[in-house]
Amino acid sequence: MIRSHSKPFAYSAMVFTIMAFIVMAIAASAQTAPSTAPKPKPEDTELWTPVPEVVTPGATTTAPPSDAIVLFNGKNLDEWVTTKDKSPAKWVVNHGIMTVNKAAGEIETKRKFIDYQLHIEWRIPKNITGSGQARGNSGVFLASTGPGNDGYELQVLDAYNNKTYVNGMAGSLYKQSIPLVNPSRKPGEWQSYDVIWNAPRFNEDGSLKSPAYVTVLYNGVLVDNHFQLSGETLYVGKPFYKAFSGAPIKLQAHGDKSAPISYRNIWVRELK
Ligand code: MG
Repeated sequence: MIRSHSKPFAYSAMVFTIMAFIVMAIAASAQTAPSTAPKPKPEDTELWTPVPEVVTPGATTTAPPSDAIVLFNGKNLDEWVTTKDKSPAKWVVNHGIMTVNKAAGEIETKRKFIDYQLHIEWRIPKNITGSGQARGNSGVFLASTGPGNDGYELQVLDAYNNKTYVNGMAGSLYKQSIPLVNPSRKPGEWQSYDVIWNAPRFNEDGSLKSPAYVTVLYNGVLVDNHFQLSGETLYVGKPFYKAFSGAPIKLQAHGDKSAPISYRNIWVRELK
């Protein structure tokens, strides 16, 4: 019995010894091999190109920087058209602000954009009435893909003391995102959105290549953090994507009975 076990044991011991020698040899060669890699220097990780383009910032952080396209300067609606028929925009311009004209309907920019940084200021009237979605409803469509509510809506609504579904409150990407916090101001006070919009991309057959992402600061406070959209805004049903490339920015003339919303100081920087 002893003899029958001794042979495999001897064989195993021999294999173990050989392997141990190999490991020791590798370790020894690693220790003795001269190092050919030069000692890292701080300069190794410095980049000197491409040099960022010089942009002169605005006098304040809400004023347009030198490379911005001013979409509304308080004087006219030259950059805007009526969405449904592309006729000149007919919202009311007065005292440096533009105010929704419900009868005239949605307006949108003449220009089309892909990826951009947007600044826009809006005001719910002090004498607002109604509740929920019927209390100061408008909206910034970050890409308008057709008439009416076609596109991707960043909601505008009184959120100061107004209960509604949270993915439909101000700061939400309507029916998709819930704002991280609620930094709204009272009706009658000016509020701002600063938006980073990364448009969706589509393959030649119209299928989705990459989704839309949006980051929103509401009154300077982050409310949507690189949020991934599931498609266009839908009032009913689950969102889905429809292929497009380049789209205007649209402002909503909502059909509720609230007093009209106003906008001012709108500018955009195209991202390349
Ligand atoms: Mg709306």
